[in-house]
Amino acid sequence: MTATRILVLNSGSSSVKYQLIDMADGSRLATGLVERIGEETSRVKHGDRETSGPIPDHEAALRAVAEELDTDGLGLDSPELAAVGHRVVHGGLRFTAPTVVDDEVLEEIERLVPVAPLHNPANITGIRIARALRPDLPQVAVFDTAFHTTMPEYAARYAIDVETADAHRIRRYGFHGTSHAYVSRETAKLLGKTPEEVNVIVLHLGNGASASAVRGGVCVDTSMGLTPLEGLVMGTRSGDIDPAVVFHLSRVAGMSVDEIDELLNKKSGMVGLCGDNDMREVVRRAVEGDGAAQLAFGVYVHRLKKYIGAYSAVLGRVDAVAFTAGVGENSAPVREAAIGGLEEMGYAVDADLNSVRSDEPRLISPDYARVAVAVVPTDEELEIAQQVYALVRA
Ligand code: ADP
Repeated sequence: MTATRILVLNSGSSSVKYQLIDMADGSRLATGLVERIGEETSRVKHGDRETSGPIPDHEAALRAVAEELDTDGLGLDSPELAAVGHRVVHGGLRFTAPTVVDDEVLEEIERLVPVAPLHNPANITGIRIARALRPDLPQVAVFDTAFHTTMPEYAARYAIDVETADAHRIRRYGFHGTSHAYVSRETAKLLGKTPEEVNVIVLHLGNGASASAVRGGVCVDTSMGLTPLEGLVMGTRSGDIDPAVVFHLSRVAGMSVDEIDELLNKKSGMVGLCGDNDMREVVRRAVEGDGAAQLAFGVYVHRLKKYIGAYSAVLGRVDAVAFTAGVGENSAPVREAAIGGLEEMGYAVDADLNSVRSDEPRLISPDYARVAVAVVPTDEELEIAQQVYALVRA
């Protein structure tokens, strides 16, 4: 029997998302989520089944996942399982491709914790526990940063003292790479071209949000930096601000570094501007005339436009701009407002096409528009599974 199944694990700080995908036909054999790990009432959702009860830590969470899979006859001991693919947020400069995890690789991912303190620890725990559960199975790390390692040095460097930057590995890494890779390729496919033939701006607008400029399939710039805080306005993160705001908050407002970190990562963005981070709520309130929601929407869209303009200049020629993730795939008002006014630059959105709801990749620009505007649903789990399968089969 050939092993064609890949278990994809996405371990976050308080959750584990997972999918079991059969690469023979791309079918999802299982999809689930363990939420609120470490709280009194954690929740396990496995397909239609839902249970709740205390799940104290990631080890217990992964054991719960293994049990759910077992119940369906899809357990970790299945000979059809080819590998486990782990989403790892930060791969630094070294990891430019999916990598089979051994002790040395795990150590290197650990060495990156200082640049990804919120994310890498949970990813590492996920890998350790999956390894313990099935020591003979390849565990493959797929890095959010990998797609962006092709950025030219002048796009990756901050203009600060080089020695200080290098001593602390301070540079722009970029994140959401799995999604940017997948969506830029799918966009080329939608245009009937190969990735090498097209230049694409990808706008990944979820709770976290980032833009990337992809030239001929290769990432040449992206909006997130050392951490996922830089760039677009997000659900709870500020995106770009003057770094002197931090000094000001420290010196004048008397806030500690941790308090400022929390402010910019958790209490800013749409939540900070209007109290809601769900774009549906923001738009609903804005339409009803709520001033704070209107301002938040305005700030969000203004930043998006700036990045579309910047990446148009970086690429020189743009063939398509692709909207993806929760907001990008679902919010017609955001797409309309972000593209509105850019007609002279070749961008336009057709109102009827924009209002269509669908899970399929689709064009929303009118035929006459010089640049294709597309909605391309992302599928990070499938992309991870494909990369992992290609590696373990090779
Ligand atoms: P994450 O970054 O957590 O993976 P998603 O890509 O799932 O997030 O995006 C989640 C966000 O998408 C929500 O916070 C919400 O703002 C937005 N969203 C989801 N559905 C819709 C919708 N129908 N209309 C507008 N926005 C939506």
